[in-house]
Amino acid sequence: MLSDKVQAAINDQINNELFSSYSYLSMAAWCEHQQFTGCAHWLRLQSSEEYGHAMKLYDFLIARNARVVLRPIGQPASDFQSITHVFESSLEQEQRVSAQIDSLYELAFHEKAFAALVELEWFITEQVEEEKTAREVVHKFNLVKDDPASLLDLDREMASRTADGESA
Ligand code: MG
Repeated sequence: MLSDKVQAAINDQINNELFSSYSYLSMAAWCEHQQFTGCAHWLRLQSSEEYGHAMKLYDFLIARNARVVLRPIGQPASDFQSITHVFESSLEQEQRVSAQIDSLYELAFHEKAFAALVELEWFITEQVEEEKTAREVVHKFNLVKDDPASLLDLDREMASRTADGESA
């Protein structure tokens, strides 16, 4: 049985992952408005991936006979200075999530919640990948800067992401 502390912390992380999903969806909407449809596609997929992370924790709580308690999701940013700024925000978000997962892992360790530790290992590995991908995308946008032809190419490249792939 999971302790109340661990249950509460996993519920917090479900909320964090849903906020992350919501936040990517908001970035996607900004990109659609700016006609960066490839980036919007990429961000929509990222949003569903984050929803999947929330559901993985949701299913874990249910499997442990613990309570899922959903709370309001915060309002994500809806305005960005540039397309580069969108992806810089996504990198910052992934860094925040990595820190949240680390704290959750630390708590589960102190509470001797061994099944939770195993579950959270997947998230630790995932965050390494998420930060790496976000950093690569930011780098590409920083390289092309405001060059319209290169931006169009990059947007086209972002459009090639598939649901289970890590393209971009
Ligand atoms: Mg996530």
